[in-house]
Amino acid sequence: MITIKNESQIDKMRKAGALLHSVLEALRSEIEPGVTTKHLDHMAERLIREGGGIPSFKGYEGFPFSICASVDDQVVHGFASNDRLKKGQLLSVDCGCILDGWQSDSAFSVLVGGGTPEAQQLVDVTEKCFWLGADAARAGNHLGDIGHAVQTYAESFGYGVIRDLCGHGIGTEMHEDPNVPNYGNPHRGVKLQAGMTIAVEPMISMGTWKVYCQDNDWTICTRDGSIASHYEHTLLITDGEPEILSWPGVKVSEVLK
Ligand code: MG
Ligand code: MG
Repeated sequence: MITIKNESQIDKMRKAGALLHSVLEALRSEIEPGVTTKHLDHMAERLIREGGGIPSFKGYEGFPFSICASVDDQVVHGFASNDRLKKGQLLSVDCGCILDGWQSDSAFSVLVGGGTPEAQQLVDVTEKCFWLGADAARAGNHLGDIGHAVQTYAESFGYGVIRDLCGHGIGTEMHEDPNVPNYGNPHRGVKLQAGMTIAVEPMISMGTWKVYCQDNDWTICTRDGSIASHYEHTLLITDGEPEILSWPGVKVSEVLK
């Protein structure tokens, strides 16, 4: 069931989003060669709790960490570890929090200490896929418009669009209806309405879109071992461009300028 949020509910999601954004920015500035993803995980949990929130990933269907830390060919749901990050690795950090009963979910990818131009392009294109998808996420458009925008841009670079995982509705639950695929056809699928809140999250690989799950039953990797990037925000559908709940103040139209 797709729920339409009222103004007071949206305001709570704004506050959860603001907390999550501050946490992710702190994590981003901490990432450098030699840092462990366990350290980032502990930091995320501490900052979320200090902000009065609850790390939503920890314990979710048994997931053991407050962040997903996915390195190189790991697409999503990577486990935090004591391995030290190395220069040039592609690290995706996905995190979620609950504040006053309302959820936010956001992810970014970065090259640890900088990397090759090819890898940087993958990271940049994945982010742009998000903003193009977000620009299509307007009342009166359809879910397929979001997926089509993401897919068209990613595939124009020859990249693979992961299909086994997708974005989702979000509210008091992390995963609500509808699913938000990163592929699709224009004007198809659920019609978007003002007050819907969804997480849009392109997962893009340098090679194949085909994936497998590691033995830990969580971590999703590309089948061909190619690196993959992930970028996500929680957003509010409006009659115009969406409000990015997990990045207070940012405007889609400004980013795309
Ligand atoms: Mg996420
Ligand atoms: Mg998500």
